[in-house]
Amino acid sequence: MMLEHNPIVAFFFFLLGTIVGSFTNVLIWRIPRGESIVFPGSHCPKCGAKIKFYDNIPILSYIILGGKCRNCSSKISIKYPLIESFVGIAYLLTYLLYPAAPFIETIQMILIIPIFLAISCIDIEHWVIPDELTISVAVVGIAASFIIGGWKMFVSSLIGAAIGAFIFWIISVLGKRAFRKEAMGGGDILLIGAVGFLVGWKNILLVIFISALLGAIGGIIAVLIRKAISHKDTKTDSAIPFGPFICAATLIVIPFGEKMLNWYLSLFK
Ligand SMILES: [Zn+2]
Repeated sequence: MMLEHNPIVAFFFFLLGTIVGSFTNVLIWRIPRGESIVFPGSHCPKCGAKIKFYDNIPILSYIILGGKCRNCSSKISIKYPLIESFVGIAYLLTYLLYPAAPFIETIQMILIIPIFLAISCIDIEHWVIPDELTISVAVVGIAASFIIGGWKMFVSSLIGAAIGAFIFWIISVLGKRAFRKEAMGGGDILLIGAVGFLVGWKNILLVIFISALLGAIGGIIAVLIRKAISHKDTKTDSAIPFGPFICAATLIVIPFGEKMLNWYLSLFK
């Protein structure tokens, strides 16, 4: 399988990922602040100095500048090169996963990875999932299902969206009754609906199952960390944003969902 891969193409995928990662940083900073994602160009958040193109090279510029602004020497967050590296590696893995697959599946991953990363980072930091990002997920899902499987696939993705949103809506209503607080936000319900367009009706159930599993593990870890630093914050005691778990589960299910479902069904034969 590895022989089908060209090391130069693989490096190109990584490089493309770091450039897209650089733009993902722009999305993560600007969308929650209601700023335009196109204008003005990149500038230092501290001193406002315009960042020159040669200081805006993904990952490398951070290392060359020692993590400091060239103008005011204020610290640049390590998040920037980490996000650039993350998308670079995710694109490289996409190329390794889909050597001979239809081209559209590669494009679908290339579009969805930065959107999911932006959703996750914004949800962790601001506790919101911006509608424009959720809509982008739905648009990619609808377009991909049409191109891959025509009307038949589109109907499957429409049912997937309806099932996903309906199940999450039920959970949110029951959660509110049981715990008298928001268990599932409106943003999560819309996001799982958008993911339904992406993965279809069979795989959406798998996304819900895996995201719940990951969310439970994440919740336990979050409680342990909060206990360790004994931060008495009653309002967000055991609560964690759920968006990142939906995104992670979807990125597992897109390449492996079919195999996981077949394995599960084979247990009953
Ligand atoms: Zn500066």
